[in-house]
Amino acid sequence: MECKSGAMSTAGKNPGARHEADVIYGIDNWGQGFFAVSEDGHLTVRPNPTENATIDIHEVVTQLFTEGSRSPLLLRFPQILDAQILKLKSAFDKAIEEFDYSESYQGVFPMKVNPRREVVDRLLETGRSVNLGLEVGSKSELLLALGMKPASDALLICNGFKDPAFMEMAFWAHRLGRNVVIVMEQVREVKEYLRIASDFGCKPLLGLRGRLYTKGSGKWEESGGETSKFGLSTMEMLECIRALREAGIEDSVAMLHFHIGSQITEIRRIKAAVREASRVYAKIRKMGVSIRFLNVGGGLGIDYDGSRSSSDNSANYSVQEFANDVVYTVGGICHDEGVPEPILISESGRALTAYHSILVLSAESRFDPNLDVRATLEPMKKASPLVELTEILDEITVKNFREYYHDAVQQRDELFSLFDLGYLGIEDRAQAEVLFHEICEKALLFAKATKNQSDDFLRLAKALRRKYISNFSVFQSVPDAWTIGQLFPIVPIHRLNESPTEFGILADLTCDSDGKIDNFVDTRRVKTVLELHEVRPGEPYYLGVCLVGAYQEVMGSFHNMFGRVNEAQVTISAEGETETFGLQAGDRIFEVAGIIGYERDLVLDRVARRVDEATASGRIDSESATAFHGQYLAWLNASTYPD
Ligand code: PLP
Repeated sequence: MECKSGAMSTAGKNPGARHEADVIYGIDNWGQGFFAVSEDGHLTVRPNPTENATIDIHEVVTQLFTEGSRSPLLLRFPQILDAQILKLKSAFDKAIEEFDYSESYQGVFPMKVNPRREVVDRLLETGRSVNLGLEVGSKSELLLALGMKPASDALLICNGFKDPAFMEMAFWAHRLGRNVVIVMEQVREVKEYLRIASDFGCKPLLGLRGRLYTKGSGKWEESGGETSKFGLSTMEMLECIRALREAGIEDSVAMLHFHIGSQITEIRRIKAAVREASRVYAKIRKMGVSIRFLNVGGGLGIDYDGSRSSSDNSANYSVQEFANDVVYTVGGICHDEGVPEPILISESGRALTAYHSILVLSAESRFDPNLDVRATLEPMKKASPLVELTEILDEITVKNFREYYHDAVQQRDELFSLFDLGYLGIEDRAQAEVLFHEICEKALLFAKATKNQSDDFLRLAKALRRKYISNFSVFQSVPDAWTIGQLFPIVPIHRLNESPTEFGILADLTCDSDGKIDNFVDTRRVKTVLELHEVRPGEPYYLGVCLVGAYQEVMGSFHNMFGRVNEAQVTISAEGETETFGLQAGDRIFEVAGIIGYERDLVLDRVARRVDEATASGRIDSESATAFHGQYLAWLNASTYPD
């Protein structure tokens, strides 16, 4: 599909509301210049920061849905991957020049962060000009990496648990001409390396993964520090060097590596870790081991909430500050210690990929049907609390709403006591619930209008959050929102030139009470409601969950058998031509069933038997049996998500 971007209608122009949308959803804060709001009130993406061409996400989605695709839909913007690779590389180049550092920087992409073919292929293609390599942490990743063709100087770093097969694969990669570094994480891996080296008659480069005292910060703090699961203690590192020296191949040790955790929120932790690692590097160099790469691992944080702070969902530094601190610190310590400066490596995965994809959901708000029955209920008697509640509802205003709301709480409690004692009927109780709910809604509107932030009204806002039933599974598409409470910016992809009138949370399709998103980004706090629009009857309402390009796709699970979502890639040319390609249909029911052991034929066979039994017992006739069979096949071939 090709559609022209920039074909904007002027309908609904409202610059004030667009500005309001920026403020409400914090787009400028977390968007890094990639996201903005168009005059039509649509969310746009500017994937190439050096050009002005923007992609209208709503236009793309509407077009794709017209052509038969459905929500949930994952949109990838490969040009954002390009931009991030170049941003990281140029930040290091700038720092190297500024601090007169004598060596260069090379990145490697850790496959675990997003191993999707489209992503890795694009990263390696664009990364060819900057020697972007790969980091693998398992046999599966290594086997795939073996078939890829990055730049000839790019590194292939092998981390993780290495059984003999993993080690042999790494040796094969070396023999095939790849720039392999096998990182030792346990002393026993050295023995395995030596055994295979003598079998293969070659010795790929080796790395040592050190365990630093410095811990990271944020949710992955425990990945670093002396109790970390990963890396060699100082004694173990010395033992590895001794064993390699004894075997006469200490000259193969080329890299010192550390990683103190992903999403490091505080720059001072990075500085401290780099300082410690640089000192270890210098001391090992002084032992005569000619390490030439210092690998600072991953951890470069993303400012998901836009607060530019050390909160768990943010990072209090920029990419440039990260690069400056690494280069300056390593350079300074090498100078102090009088050792050569190493080539700098980082394994930044989140920073390269997080921005590049958006999950588009369709949402509908759920109204409590109780609210419509007020007129149809005939109370048994006009109990005094009911009379009071009716009056409060009629008379509550912006001036008296605090007092009237408190009165309403009292009247409701009184009415429930009377019900408990048997004085009132079920209709009285129903009527009171409806009246009280309406009073709360009015009070909340007044509280919002007067910017009342008291505990009472914050609690009320939380209680009255409207559920937007959204066509997705948290467990499949944003698992970190569930497992670690990670926040992702969520924004309607249209109607951003209209003021939102509702406070909502997102409920997914799974039958799991954890299948919801009820925390949202904000620069000052975590919002427990998101400002959303009233869903108009018969009109779709689409939300974009942004910054989901790192970790989410590969960590997603099949809870309730919701499968992978539909996907498409979107690019834009300098002339503003939007191109959508690489459409992939999400999983169908039989595919997800196959993953958990119900192969299609087995499923069909089992159902055929149940149908035969029902036919034999006369429960259904053979015509119905044939019709059901056809229908069952069609259902099995359909998407796991509702139409
Ligand atoms: N390197 C190693 C060894 C890791 O374990 C990880 C992930 O935690 C990374 C790199 C990627 O880290 P990030 O995505 O924070 O850059």
